Amino acid sequence: MKRLLNEASTFREEMISGFAAAYVRYLRRAPGASGVIANGIPARGRVSVVVGGGSGHYPAFYGLVGQGLASGAAIGDIFTSPSGEQCYRVGKAVDGGAGILFTFGNYSGDVMNFGMAETRLRAEGIDARTVLVTDDVLSARPEEADRRRGIAGGFYVFKSAGAAAARGDSIADVEALTRHANARVRTAGVGFAGCTVPGQAEPLFTVEAGKMEVGLGIHGEQGVRVEEHPPASELAAMLVDILLAETPPGAGSEAAVLVNGLGGTKYEEMFVFYNDVAKLLDRAGVQPYTPMIGEFVTSLDMPGMSLSLFWLDDDLKPLLDATAASPAFTSIGPDVAALRTSNGDEVAAAAAAESSAAAAEEEEAPGGEMGERARAALRRALAAMQEKEGELGRLDAAAGDGDHGAGMVRGMRAAVDAIAGSAGSARSSFTRGGIAFQNAAGGASGALVGAWLIAIGNALPADDAAVDAAALATAMADAQATLQRLGQAQPGDKTMIDTLAPFSDALATAAASGASLLDAWAAALPAAKAGMEATTDMVSKRGRASRLGERSRGTQDAGATSMYYVLQAFGEGFADQGE
Ligand code: ADP
Ligand code: MG
Repeated sequence: MKRLLNEASTFREEMISGFAAAYVRYLRRAPGASGVIANGIPARGRVSVVVGGGSGHYPAFYGLVGQGLASGAAIGDIFTSPSGEQCYRVGKAVDGGAGILFTFGNYSGDVMNFGMAETRLRAEGIDARTVLVTDDVLSARPEEADRRRGIAGGFYVFKSAGAAAARGDSIADVEALTRHANARVRTAGVGFAGCTVPGQAEPLFTVEAGKMEVGLGIHGEQGVRVEEHPPASELAAMLVDILLAETPPGAGSEAAVLVNGLGGTKYEEMFVFYNDVAKLLDRAGVQPYTPMIGEFVTSLDMPGMSLSLFWLDDDLKPLLDATAASPAFTSIGPDVAALRTSNGDEVAAAAAAESSAAAAEEEEAPGGEMGERARAALRRALAAMQEKEGELGRLDAAAGDGDHGAGMVRGMRAAVDAIAGSAGSARSSFTRGGIAFQNAAGGASGALVGAWLIAIGNALPADDAAVDAAALATAMADAQATLQRLGQAQPGDKTMIDTLAPFSDALATAAASGASLLDAWAAALPAAKAGMEATTDMVSKRGRASRLGERSRGTQDAGATSMYYVLQAFGEGFADQGE
């Protein structure tokens, strides 16, 4: 696969710069953040709408920033959620004093990172709220509709939110209308082949000749089942049937229709497909309203497409019709808002400066030998992640999106950089390293592993001399509890918890028997290894891979694997400086 790029490591940065430079008519970069904000934002007294997620989906999400649409977007690396810090900074930059609505697809990385931003903004007195997009009917059964992930139908949710905010609605109304829009949109999709991440040689998955993946994700996740690849008319009948079977209660006879290409399907093919869809809807008594055919949410170069129906009513139709002007979507409707011209750059720059100053203020207690050992442990963990990056990516690609190795390397490198030259305690080294990890890594694991490292630090005594096997065992148990609170995973859910839980237990037992710190750690590692290996036979219940159900069985969990290597590396690092 031939790609146009300079360095994989600077891809996101260069992409945002190029995008913002081209579309100055609509938007500008959010100061000090990985994101963009619409011109005229912040608008005093208006609600702001922030969308976002990983990149690789253009025109989602940042192509929809502009008048009457999203006020801002936080932009992550390819298929990787932006970090909590980035989401916070974009939120801060768009704040006009009337509240902020975050709306994005229901993926655990995005939920955790935007969630952290929401919590932080609320703590500052900003009325921040969240509406998750859950339109993908094939990703969970109707009884569990709130677990569904967000795909192309998110366009209608963002459009409704943006139009309501631009009209001057209150945050409560914007939130309610956005929820209503999400409850009225249904999407089902198929993929004909995998996609290839820039900088990588192979696609994330392959689809056998003559087959298609039904219910695929937009991050290169495989579908929920494989079927014969049918002619366009049969595919149209199948997807229309799936969507009509899920017509929401109270729906009228009019629905907006969106045929979305995933990046590798041509417009001409989609017109052929729509020709069949139109006939089927007509037969079912559904009137299509302003059908849209094109790319709205892509998955890099993936061949495949989805069909969305957005069931209109008197509340939603004016929001869909309202004027919008953004790089990827422009429509002329009855004007809902005049473009305000206040320029919030100074306000936002000050806010960004304030928040990085707060991070730098983390107290640095003078450290001893255990501080050296902690820094050696993080350096060893970075080396291990670099060595295992490919393996972790392959494990994550089996049921997820293939980014786990890259995310762990990015996070550990940031952690090591943050503590370089420090002479602080083990407590401050883990805490600082964890904050840097969380900001840099993105994704579900960025939030989770970052929080885990911070929690290890916070639970250790400030005095390095007091860190013995028992203190470390307590810290590891605390950190595991923090990770479980954040991610809601239990042992057996096929996550990193399956490595960490048996490890913490074994470490506590070894420490209680009087073993030294190094001996206790070494004695606990086999339990972590057994826990990691046991994930192979498990079915994923948390995170991205959980959408695949039984298809997630048979591959060892990526996060459980990386955590085992991290624990092993920590043991080596503690020993490095200890002998
Ligand atoms: P993403 O899913 O955002 O692409 P990564 O690929 O970096 O994130 O990490 C995936 C790993 O994260 C999984 O293999 C799993 O071990 C872990 N994980 C995902 N969700 C959870 C959760 N809710 N609790 C604990 N671990 C989780
Ligand atoms: Mg992943």
